[in-house]
Amino acid sequence: MSKPGAELSRRASRQVRIGKVGVGGTAPIVVQSMTNTATEDVFATAMQVAQLARAGSELVRITVNTREAAAAVPKLRERLAQMNTEVPLIGDFHFNGHKLLGEYPECAASLAKLRINPGNVGKGAKRDEQFAQLIEIACRHDKPIRIGVNWGSLDQSLLARVMDENARRPRPKNAIEIVREAMVSSALESAAQAEALGLPGDRIILSCKVSGVQDLIAIYRELAVRCDYPLHLGLTEAGMGSKGIVASTAALAVLLQEGIGDTIRVSLTPPPGGDRTQEVVVAQEILQTMGLRAFTPLVAACPGCGRTTSTVFQELAEGIQTYVRERMPEWRVARIGVEDMTLAVMGCVVNGPGESKQANIGISLPGTGEAPVAPVYVDGERVTTLRGENIAEEFRRIVDDYVARTYPPRL
Ligand code: SF4
Repeated sequence: MSKPGAELSRRASRQVRIGKVGVGGTAPIVVQSMTNTATEDVFATAMQVAQLARAGSELVRITVNTREAAAAVPKLRERLAQMNTEVPLIGDFHFNGHKLLGEYPECAASLAKLRINPGNVGKGAKRDEQFAQLIEIACRHDKPIRIGVNWGSLDQSLLARVMDENARRPRPKNAIEIVREAMVSSALESAAQAEALGLPGDRIILSCKVSGVQDLIAIYRELAVRCDYPLHLGLTEAGMGSKGIVASTAALAVLLQEGIGDTIRVSLTPPPGGDRTQEVVVAQEILQTMGLRAFTPLVAACPGCGRTTSTVFQELAEGIQTYVRERMPEWRVARIGVEDMTLAVMGCVVNGPGESKQANIGISLPGTGEAPVAPVYVDGERVTTLRGENIAEEFRRIVDDYVARTYPPRL
């Protein structure tokens, strides 16, 4: 196994501090997420923030859209402190952010970062005035900002200007190229404006989110060439289920492979009542499967085929992945390096022993016609053979024992 991040080099960017978390520079790529509770419901929002943080979200963004939400932010921070959850909170502001932050200074003080959408700051002459108010508040409270441009709320006056400029070109660009150019310009011009208003450059993160994979790749490549602000990477409105996961992975993987992206969010739409933490798990798995970071031991499992006549190995693969994920919050604080552990659950003798030997711990279950025994390999050596009804339980015990003797305790 190669060491995480061994082959890939990151684009050079400045580092922005968000609470205790560094984004950009030499910092690891940061995973973040966003709540979908009403922020004024402090109890529900605190519960979800804590769930997201426990799943591994290193930053959590919350909506701040009303006076009630702004007033709730300090209470939310207090509640999280009572729950021993220190994850930095980012406030997401649109349309009325200047008013809310002005009227509720404790809201600004309680947040670790402000997200500002330059397309939703205000219209006409009010735009610059309200943008300046937001930057003045960020400076006064010593807070970094993300200038988060979004395809669906692109500054229309800026788009019109870029279109006019394009029309005067000898070879005008097409409509898609123009929208991409307008998005990049919106981010860069807003950042320059913020710096001119006194916000230091190392307090600015940029994002330009779109829902098309090729658009995202083109826009971020351009941003990466034209600035050294840390970049927040994510496909917006990625969608539900496998579509959202595949689209996000396709877009983010290309850019991350090129060293572009300092923090990522995977914008999945959960099913009704679904688990919000899935977006954290997917973000971590993108980084981990690319070898950029390690978060949780991942289970390699074969897909199964005509040689597997039962669901035993599927159940074992799913069960052991769930088990290590559930144990990880405790292991992470107690054991050094456990996130690098690799596991394999295989369905028959064809590839089972070979793949199992490559993992730290692997099990090769019996396929059709094989003797009903499951050899277990630890660091490439066959150490035992499991059989009978309690294979899953015994395998979990082997994993626990391996963690206890392999990864030193944090003192
Ligand atoms: S390891 Fe065996 S059961 Fe799994 S996919 Fe390969 S041949 Fe099929």
